[in-house]
Amino acid sequence: MNNIKNYINGNFHDPIQNNWLDNYCPANGEVYGQIPNSSKEDVENAYIAAKSAFPSWSQTTLEERSRILIKISELLEANLQRFAEAESKDNGKPISLAKEIDIPRAASNFRFFGNAITQFASESHESVGHNAINYTLRQPIGVVGCISPWNLPLYLFTWKIAPALAAGNCVVAKPSEVTPLTAFLLGEICNEAGLPKGVLNIVHGLGTTTGQAIIEHPDIKAISFTGGTATGAHIAKVAAPMFKKLSLELGGKNPNIIFADCDYDDMLNTTLRSSFANQGQICLCGSRIFVEASIYEKFKTDFVAKVKQLKVGHPSDTATTIGALVSKPHLEKVMDYINIAKSEGGNLLCGGQKVTVKDFENGYYLQPTVIEVPNDECRVNQEEIFGPVVTIMPFNSEDDVLQMANKVKYGLSATLWTNDLKRTMRMSNQLQSGIVWVNTWMMRDLRTLFGGVKASGVGREGGFEALRFFTEAKNVCIKY
Ligand code: NAD
Repeated sequence: MNNIKNYINGNFHDPIQNNWLDNYCPANGEVYGQIPNSSKEDVENAYIAAKSAFPSWSQTTLEERSRILIKISELLEANLQRFAEAESKDNGKPISLAKEIDIPRAASNFRFFGNAITQFASESHESVGHNAINYTLRQPIGVVGCISPWNLPLYLFTWKIAPALAAGNCVVAKPSEVTPLTAFLLGEICNEAGLPKGVLNIVHGLGTTTGQAIIEHPDIKAISFTGGTATGAHIAKVAAPMFKKLSLELGGKNPNIIFADCDYDDMLNTTLRSSFANQGQICLCGSRIFVEASIYEKFKTDFVAKVKQLKVGHPSDTATTIGALVSKPHLEKVMDYINIAKSEGGNLLCGGQKVTVKDFENGYYLQPTVIEVPNDECRVNQEEIFGPVVTIMPFNSEDDVLQMANKVKYGLSATLWTNDLKRTMRMSNQLQSGIVWVNTWMMRDLRTLFGGVKASGVGREGGFEALRFFTEAKNVCIKY
């Protein structure tokens, strides 16, 4: 049994009330460990540790903070195999994906913000004719809360923690209770890297107990959250009357818009990835595919043929391209949507069935699924499924597809496949989303901002935007 503990003040602790949750392995459906379901008291202890560490950490030189964050990054890289295995076991994703994407990106997050903080600067304004100068101080907020989801566990956890620490804050963080393992292992790495005690505290447990205790803590002054839209709305309701700073990265229902003039092979291969990478459990996946009518039938045939070649299997099998979904309830939710699609007149082009993997019969495996939908207003085209399920339908004109792309409550990302420059610029202007990819997908430069509009969230992460979020700006006006 792998028992996970809370990381508070540099040490590992059982939950005070001795309340534990089972941790399931999605690849075989078995319980393989337990995690604390931390109470208010555990969160309070984490807060006290963070508060005590803050005066010293906030005054630590930028060079020293940078050195420690980069050391954490190096240690993650040195432990790549161990972390990738843990991530895969906890989440069900192919181990190859964890090794190529999740863990390297977690290491990059620490390296990036370790470097970025040495380049972060604030403004000054000379008030000419008034004999005055204004300058902006960007000061750490104090103790901040970071809460993350299960789909890219360490990747998204560190995407918040690294800038928060770089900016001089101390952190109380909670990973998803569904995938807590790599966050637990991160504590050891932080100690080894010399992160002072209490600067980062990691508490485990359910959103409704541990997460709730973080968001309603009166002295945790900012919350950076990534997760579902309904949870984000709840957090806003609790935190807004307390005037906490809030960054909310929420759900998506992203359009993938394909014009006939695109580079076809590149589009086809990337669309396969943007549909099914990580079992379709990436908030940026292009789950609504719109194809220009003149190439629709060709695309349909070629795409379905490629999807049928994807190999569903055990995450540690090197031939596997699609691993297990993260949990049984999630598998059931995704299956429900496939049934909803059928009842709404959707045409199942491939997939739709659970997969039984030999020796791992109780794992949460599902065939990659493509559904041809009769219109863009059906539920499977409007609601986030967050699994290996995409819809396809044709469009006739730029105006039509733009209207359909924007006619959802979400607005996280959009992908556009075309070689027409003017169309690219027109559509990029008008698409209602925080991110537009043209002729690519999920290409990330960590300096760029990241976030959504409408029900996909509030605020931007990434680059200096994240450092601005994790600091309070103060204007100082001096008359001379
Ligand atoms: P979720 O909202 O259920 O949980 C996310 C986190 O919030 C977990 O750690 C959970 O324990 C915690 N939580 C739940 N209730 C809480 C409460 N009352 N108070 C405080 N914390 C609480 O989301 P999930 O199912 O883990 O993740 C899937 C969702 O995340 C999808 O909707 C996906 O689109 C979204 N997501 C968004 C992004 C983005 O960058 N926009 C990235 C990845 C995932």
